[in-house]
Order: sequence, then C-alpha cells, then structure tokens
Amino acid sequence: MKKHNFSAGPSILAPEVFQKASKALLDFEGTGLSVIEISHRSPEFVRVIERARALALEIAGLDDSYTTLFLQGGASMQFLMVPYNLLETKAAYIDTGTWANKAQKEAALFGNAEVIASSKADGYKYIPKNVTVPTDIDYLHITTNNTIYGTEYHSLPQTSVPLVADMSSDIFSRPLDYKQFSLIYAGSQKNLGASGSTLVIVKKDLLGKVSRKLPSMMDYQLHIKNDSMFNTPSTFAVYVNLLVLEWIQAQGGLQALGKRNRAKADLLYGEIDRNPLVVGYANKEDRSLMNVVFNLTDESTKERFDALCKEANISGIKGHRSVGGYRASIYNALPLQSVQVLVDVLKEFERTA
Ligand SMILES: *Cc1c(COP(=O)(O)O)cnc(C)c1O
Repeated sequence: MKKHNFSAGPSILAPEVFQKASKALLDFEGTGLSVIEISHRSPEFVRVIERARALALEIAGLDDSYTTLFLQGGASMQFLMVPYNLLETKAAYIDTGTWANKAQKEAALFGNAEVIASSKADGYKYIPKNVTVPTDIDYLHITTNNTIYGTEYHSLPQTSVPLVADMSSDIFSRPLDYKQFSLIYAGSQKNLGASGSTLVIVKKDLLGKVSRKLPSMMDYQLHIKNDSMFNTPSTFAVYVNLLVLEWIQAQGGLQALGKRNRAKADLLYGEIDRNPLVVGYANKEDRSLMNVVFNLTDESTKERFDALCKEANISGIKGHRSVGGYRASIYNALPLQSVQVLVDVLKEFERTA
C-alpha cells in the first residue's frame, strides 16, 4: 500500500508522474527504447529538454530576457557556481539556516560574502525583517524556504541589487513575482522531480561581468550557448522534470497550487496550534507552507506518537537531526487527504493520552 509520504526530499511526486515515468523507462514514446538509453542528441530527447526549459520559464511568468538550464550537482553546486559567475567585489547573504549558511561559505572562497542578517541566535525560527541591503554589492542571496526549520519568506527584501535565491524547497509552490529575481536555482528532488538535475533560471544580462576565468562546467553562459547540453544532461531526471512541469500546468499553474498548498498548511498548523500535546517550531508569521516543523510537548510520549503514525501509514516525518522533533513536508504533490490523515493521528494522539 502506498504510504503518505511527508519526506523532505527526495519526496513525493504526483501518481501520474510516476506512471508516465515508469512507462517511459520501458518504451519512450513508442521509440522502442527506454528514456535512459536514447541519445541526448536524439530529436526525441532534444524535444524533452527544450519543452522543459520553455515550460519552466512560462510557469514562472518570465519573458526571454531570462533563460533556464537543467544542470547537475544539486543546489549545492549552485552555492559555488553563483559566486563563480557573479561575485566580482562583494555579495551579501541573509543567513536563515543551514543551507543559507552553506551557500555563504562557498561564496566566501571567492571574495567578500558578507552576512548582513541572521536568525541563528534564535535557532533560525524566523526570517530577518527590514534588513538594510548595501547598494555596492554584486548580488543579494536569500533562501526563500528553509527546509530544516520550516520558515519561508512571505515578503521579499526590497533592493535594487540583483536578487539571487535558493528556491530548492518552495519553487513553483505559489504565485510569486519571479521578475524580482535575477537568478533562481532549485534542486529537483523537492518540488520538481527526481534528484539529479537542478533548475537554474537566470536573467541573461546578469552574466559575463566577472573578470575571473571560468572553467567550462562552471560557466552559465557556456551552458546557455549549448542549450543546456554542454555535456550529457541527467536525461531521466530532466524527463521527470518535464512531467512535473506539465503536471503543474494541468493543475492550473501556480495560482491553483498556491491555493491548495495554503489549504494544506492551514489545516495542519490549525491542528498543531489547537493540540496541547504538540508545539510548532517556527514563528507564526514566517511559517513555511512546505515544511511544517513541530515538537511534542512531552518527549516521553514519542513512542506512542510514532506508533500511531506508523499505523496510519505515514512515512518521512522525522525532524532533521539538527532540530529534532518532527517535520511534515507537504510539497506540491502531497494531497490534502494525506494531511488530513496526519491531522487525524494528532487528534487520536490527544484523545488517547
Ligand atoms: C535540499 C536543499 C538543498 C540541497 O540540495 P542538493 O540538491 O542536495 O544539493 C539546498 N538548499 C535547500 C533550501 C534545500 O532544501
């Protein structure tokens, strides 16, 4: 029986995506070949990556002053590719957790990567507000959703400098003015597909300004010139990206997904706030619509809660090792019905206390 998968990543995808992907593993669109054995230069695969790149731009509502790439190395590779390509004199980073911190550390290898705000002292329970952003910087880097702590930007920092965002765990989960960003990156395995590919959305005129020499694989412009096929792309992962992007469109796009995600989050946070046996981790105004982090008020009840979850076929809600407790990731593809199952478990947990 299929589990209710609350895993933080790799994570749940829509059933129709799994169905189509498994079919393509055996016979890709009637070619008599598997999607993982066709040439990446074949017209069939070129269509896949071209369609995926175009669809990502369309869903973001961006024009062709931007372009998209599907690269490898995960979001972690983007931590260094961003400063490689953009950091000439100085960049600013807002430290909202482990991932933001890792991104800043990589940038510091290339130049001045100043941390201009941090919520570390408070266990990353909130998003720093009213941050004064310097104007003499090459870019400002933020992490829009903090997967581990369950915080998310609900309004973006106002700045005239290029805004760069790690959107790995909340990309395409809500309507957003994507034009506010100059560069966005997201590992696929949360809201976009299987691990192995990373979406990069970049404003083309941002590039080509640094004086350092770039190794080929690190050079966004070279990847763009080669239509995101400078080397063999992660073909299967990109194919799954296409299926997920098509699924997003079929759902009604970001407007529809945003509404659904809001309803899921409201249902779960509502129960967490009501139930005296659990307590939410993040400050209310900054709560994530994607990762819901909570603790038991009495640690000695853990075994009973875990048993109830197991019985209800719930998987993947153990919290990150750095925070402990529980984390229910409720990404795009997780149905409301799964959230209802968890809410019912929480009610049962209270009832049988
Ligand atoms: C998961 C995650 C990462 C790491 O992604 P990899 O693809 O494993 O490199 C980076 N940033 C955020 C916000 C994440 O959620």
